[in-house]
Amino acid sequence: MTQRIPLQDLTTDAAVEHHSPQVKPAGHLPSRSGHIYVREIRGFFQRIRRYSNWLLIALYVGLPWLQWGDRPLVWFDLSAQEFHLFAATFYPQDFILLTWILVLCAFGLFLITVAAGRVWCGYSCPQSVWTFLFIWFEHRLEGPRHRRIRRDNAPGTLESLWRKGAKHTAWLLIALVTGITFVGYFTPMVGLVKDLLSLEVHPWALFWIGFFTLFTYLNAGWLRHQVCLHMCPYSRFQSVMFDSDTLIVSYDVARGEPRRDHRKEVAKAVVGDCIDCELCVQVCPTGIDIRDGLQYECIGCAACIDACDGVMARIDKPLGLIRYTTERALKGQPTRFWRPQLFACAAVLLSMVILLMGFLIARVPIDVDIARDRQTLFESTAEGRIINYYTVTLRNQDTQEQRYALSATGLPGLRLQGASTLILAANETRQLRVSLDAEASVMTQPSHPVVLHITVLDEPAIYYSKETRFLGPARQ
Ligand code: SF4
Ligand code: SF4
Repeated sequence: MTQRIPLQDLTTDAAVEHHSPQVKPAGHLPSRSGHIYVREIRGFFQRIRRYSNWLLIALYVGLPWLQWGDRPLVWFDLSAQEFHLFAATFYPQDFILLTWILVLCAFGLFLITVAAGRVWCGYSCPQSVWTFLFIWFEHRLEGPRHRRIRRDNAPGTLESLWRKGAKHTAWLLIALVTGITFVGYFTPMVGLVKDLLSLEVHPWALFWIGFFTLFTYLNAGWLRHQVCLHMCPYSRFQSVMFDSDTLIVSYDVARGEPRRDHRKEVAKAVVGDCIDCELCVQVCPTGIDIRDGLQYECIGCAACIDACDGVMARIDKPLGLIRYTTERALKGQPTRFWRPQLFACAAVLLSMVILLMGFLIARVPIDVDIARDRQTLFESTAEGRIINYYTVTLRNQDTQEQRYALSATGLPGLRLQGASTLILAANETRQLRVSLDAEASVMTQPSHPVVLHITVLDEPAIYYSKETRFLGPARQ
């Protein structure tokens, strides 16, 4: 059952410790450093965020440990220039696919932003996820916000020293796990951990583990909101995607103002619902006051909503003084969900997904490169035939062994010499020197287009064709 706190008591730290672990005292306790001391808060949206954060972290840490057959489920094998994702293997030639997926993600983000504001930032962005994780450990090891501020403003004690030491140790351990996991996407995780334990890890792997450990520690531990405010380009251009129907975290000015001064007598106040307790400011990871209106610093994490709802519950006022809403709803107008921007974004995204699916379905698991012999343009034989030489590089992009048949068309009586069938193991690449020859009399011009066909013998529906040139003497 919620314990009622007299409004006057919201002003003192002592009141907090004796009354409720959730509603904490108001008022800013200044710090010497100007550091933002984030107050931990509980509530509906924080629960959603916490669950989604744990799920995302579990996915990130767990994926490199999973196997697909005899290889990792997700593996960016840079040395072999292969990217394994579940059953599929992608190669540098599939770079266009990666670009496509990135563009698709960008449009997905645009769509979500137009519809629901910055939910990506508040709930899924790695910077937010790791920052909230660090804050969670900070709260457990250094205590609640007001104690952290007091300790930082007082001369150092043994207690503050061990607490800070424990916090930074925990942060560094999390950062180290993050760094090892990141490198685990590029080198098999089991081998990497064994190498680390036996101190035989490759120097480059060690470098990247160190780099990402430091990167995580600094970003989530020290820089935090500075990354969102000064480094993230998304916060800068999100405003162009917002309109008056976009879901935003907003303070209801009409209901909240004029603010009640909780430090004075309450009874005489015939004012708005905001009691100016500043809890919404203290829980904000970017240190802003949402009552000043929508600001680009707001990452939409809804911590202020949960904080204010807690206060409203205790003063017997309706929840939602700060809430997810739209500008139009705040003006008393109906919110339109389907609007031209959203339609446009959804249509582009859908078209791109359909095209991508088509591309993946039509993707032939063979890669062929044909290079003409640069030493000899062509040879003429005594029998009146013209010969051209080529180097064919064939890569089996399938996950199983395949048998291939090679043939050529483009000129009457064109013959392929060198290799008409061959077997390649899964992911094997082989270079072949082949020649094409044709009667000189069939050549009507010095250069003819010809086509090399490669067919998968066991699945004739899978075939690949590549055009090249067949050269001969200029006709008199
Ligand atoms: S908006 Fe809510 S949490 Fe913020 S100061 Fe007013 S009452 Fe407190
Ligand atoms: S204003 Fe509210 S929603 Fe925005 S970042 Fe701060 S706490 Fe999160």
